[in-house]
Formats: sequence, structure tokens, C-alpha cells
Amino acid sequence: MVFNELTRETNILYAGSESKLPIEHPETPPIYHSTANIIQDMDDYDFASTGGKYYYCRTANPNRDGVADAVSYLEKGEQSLVCASGMAAISTAVLSLVKAGDHILANRSLYGETIELFDNILKKLNVEVTYSDFTDMNSVRAALQPNTAIVYTEIIANPLIEVVDIDALSELAHANGALVLVDSTFTTPLAIRPLEHGADLVIHSLTKYFGGHSDITAGSITGSKKLMKKIYFDYLLLGGCLDPNSSWLMLRSIRTMELRVMKQFENAKKIAEALQDDPHVRYVNYPTLANHPQRELAAKLLPNGCGAMLSFRVEDDRAKVNAFMHKLNLVKYLGTLGGYRTSIAHPATAFRNEFTPEQLKAMGMEEGLIRISAGAEAIDDLIADFKQALTVFKKA
Ligand SMILES: *Cc1c(COP(=O)(O)O)cnc(C)c1O
Repeated sequence: MVFNELTRETNILYAGSESKLPIEHPETPPIYHSTANIIQDMDDYDFASTGGKYYYCRTANPNRDGVADAVSYLEKGEQSLVCASGMAAISTAVLSLVKAGDHILANRSLYGETIELFDNILKKLNVEVTYSDFTDMNSVRAALQPNTAIVYTEIIANPLIEVVDIDALSELAHANGALVLVDSTFTTPLAIRPLEHGADLVIHSLTKYFGGHSDITAGSITGSKKLMKKIYFDYLLLGGCLDPNSSWLMLRSIRTMELRVMKQFENAKKIAEALQDDPHVRYVNYPTLANHPQRELAAKLLPNGCGAMLSFRVEDDRAKVNAFMHKLNLVKYLGTLGGYRTSIAHPATAFRNEFTPEQLKAMGMEEGLIRISAGAEAIDDLIADFKQALTVFKKA
């Protein structure tokens, strides 16, 4: 659209903007990059009404809403908010639901930055956070306080792959008047839908299995309309919304999530079994193995697969662990998880600035502990790669 009577200086702001849409029935949705939509009438300004819904990108965007609807569908939740990262989702959810003087009870084993958020930021706001062992409901019962507003957990805890009885936890928390917030990043809705087990909110780092290709940073919060309404206005103010381009990529990734993730679950189980039989491996942590302390609970809670995360312990020799990492051909050392290719991480290195060697040992993160995020490769290729690299631990 150009105006004959106007200058080039003005017309270049309009040329080519004439909407070519709608192009009927595109196979994939377009990307709505626009940060604002033209308001047709002053009565449309109310952004909460459906008519004026898309007026500003931070408030609402069609691509982001597409991701939100897909996450709500998978989690069987009423509503979702999609955030710029998993940490944006966690901080938005928690900050919008607590006030000074409240207490949060959290599992002692959580994603590292979640603990830092609790200890560094919430503390400054006079929100008390204490930790207890969520594999033991007596420990949870003893740690609940009259002012506990939130009980916060992951279902499979890193890096020892402990399983939390979410049904029992929700019952205890609700009897105490607390909300249950679950970070289900490791489990995904393909393994368990926490809202059906009493959780009030389920949170994801979509960066991991939903994205699945190690190329999008995103997060989500899902819950009832009533609870999400409380979070929505703080979400707008905190500003951690996902951009349209990443939202479009995320929805594309979600289309193939089940194909990838179910294979990754299956591969994790098979890698666990193969490592357990290797003479250089001291033990393997995976919930389907006979040695796992919550094996029965896992079978009940996670009948479709116990996730794609596992860990195993070799000799506590840092140089040999490093040599093992170098000797792997397919498997790479990554500071993330959930991608379509198998990766490893070394918890004792990841946390060496936060904890002393003694503390790390007490938490089960010895030098010989290696974490695996199983990918979607052919299982025989993966097992062969691990087996050949494990020979670095051969005694001379
Ligand atoms: C990665 C991760 C997060 C943080 O997500 P980001 O997208 O990196 O902000 C939170 N919880 C768990 C369990 C994670 O693995």
C-alpha cells in the first residue's frame, strides 16, 4: 500500500505491508512476529476481552498461544503460560504465589538453579525455604509448617534418579493447605501427568524434551484457569514470555515429541541394563533396575517409561573419567539434556563451585558418577560406544 500524494520517506513505511493474508489453509501456521496489532476501535482496547486479545506481543501472541494449547493438551490442564526459559517459568510461578512470611518446602534434590533461586532471591523477599528428603513422607510431614504455601518437587530427581511419590506428597501438602508445584521436565507428560496426581501446577523446561533438538530455550506453567489467572498478571509484569519465532519452532518440535521421547525412554532402559552388566561399572541408577530403591513406586507411577535420564558410577578417578569422555565417539559431554542425541554430564564438576567435595559426596555425587541423557540413536550403536570407552577403567 503506497499513497501517490505522499513522499517516499513515508511510503517506505507502508510499501509491501498490504496483508497478503489470509492464504487459505497453510499446512503450517505463519509466524506472527508483530509486537502489536492495530486496534480497530476504542472499544476493542480491553485486552482481556477476546476481540482485542492480540494487541501487544508480551500480553498474547498466536504462536505462543499455540504452544500453550499444545502443552495444556499434553498435560490435560486447563491453561498454560509459555515462558522464555524453564527458569522464567519457575520464577514466575513461585514469585506470583508467595508473600513475605511464607514458607516453601522443597525436595533436597532439585535442579541446581532452582535451589539458587530459592536461596538467593526468595530469601531476600523474606520467604523461607527449607529442604527435606521427599522419598520419605515422614520427613515431609515433619518439615511442613503452618505457613507452608508451596511444596515444590521434581518427580525424578537429578542425578541419582530418585522417584517421588507425588500422590502421597500432594495429599500431605493439601491437608496442610499448601499448593503443590511439580517440575516435570525429566518425566514429560508422556511418562506422567502430575495434575492427575494432585499437583496444582506442572512446570517444564521446554528446552529439554519438548524442544528436543538443543536449539530452543523455553518453559511452561500449566494449571487450572483459577490458579493461572493469579499467575498471568505477574507473568506480564515479570516479562518472561517466549518470542514468536521460538514459539513457532517449539510447536514444530512438539509434533514429533512422542516419536523421539518414547524411543529415548526405551534407549535409557536398555543402556541401564547394558551398563549394569559391564565389569567396569559399580552400579547404575535407573528406576526399572532391581537395585533401585523406589522400583515398585516407579512401576506404579511411570508405567509408560521412567524417563531418559540415568546415571552410573565408575571408579572415582577424575583423570580416568575424563579419558572415558574423550574415548566416547558418539556420545558427547553437554551442559544440557533431552536432545535427540545421547549426552553425558559429570555432576561433581557441574556443582564443584557450589559445594565442597565432602558435601558432594554426601549428596551421592562422587567423582565416578556420570549422568546420561539418552538420545534416539540405534541402541546397539550406543551400547557399543559406551562399552569401548569403559575400557579406560580396565585395571593394569
Ligand atoms: C533445564 C532445567 C530447568 C531450567 O530450564 P531452562 O530452560 O534452562 O531455564 C529446570 N528444571 C529442570 C529439571 C531442568 O532440567
